[in-house]
Amino acid sequence: MSNKVKILSIEKITHDVLRIKADKPNDLTYKTGQAVDISLNIEGWQKEIRTFTFTSIPDDNFIEFTIKTYPSHNAVTNQMLSLKANDEIFLYDVYGDIQYKGEGIFIAGGAGITPFISIFKQLEKDNKISNNKLLFANKTKADIIDEQKFKIY
Ligand SMILES: Cc1cc2nc3c(=O)[nH]c(=O)nc-3n(C[C@H](O)[C@H](O)[C@H](O)COP(=O)(O)OP(=O)(O)OC[C@H]3O[C@@H](n4cnc5c(N)ncnc54)[C@H](O)[C@@H]3O)c2cc1C
Repeated sequence: MSNKVKILSIEKITHDVLRIKADKPNDLTYKTGQAVDISLNIEGWQKEIRTFTFTSIPDDNFIEFTIKTYPSHNAVTNQMLSLKANDEIFLYDVYGDIQYKGEGIFIAGGAGITPFISIFKQLEKDNKISNNKLLFANKTKADIIDEQKFKIY
């Protein structure tokens, strides 16, 4: 079973990372930190399924993904570079065991930050950032995702 949803907006947030917002289907439920299988409604690419973590939080009335693209490699994320608002994506199974279990120091590298984007958004909303910390490693400064946002936390 898949859900076809429309892209609301798409922007480049680093030299190779896209932020995609899309309509949230009424029957979609997910937990902060979980991911969903996605394919693109582009001729020839509908069956190429990849997994992406929600960087929205469940209360949002849209869904959001933060996606590192591989421009030199002709695969799904490269195709995403040509997407625009009103294009469509398919959503399949939601899964993933990453979840917030209490205060701590979390460690992420590169695109591995995505579950922590939604976890920290949720903590901020609940006023529970308190002593939670994120150690975030990247190859270069230009690769850092949401640097300003994480500085505010
Ligand atoms: C549970 C889960 C959650 C995830 N969440 C996210 C997320 O939120 N954001 C995100 O960005 N990613 C996430 N991923 C990873 C994401 O699914 C992959 O980045 C995506 O599948 C890449 O798809 P692709 O079709 O572009 O490349 P694929 O064909 O799947 O290959 C990607 C791999 O190709 C390699 N590659 C790069 N260039 C070349 C080349 N020229 N030739 C051969 N190989 C090359 C890259 O090193 C990379 O390892 C998640 C994965 C899982 C399992």
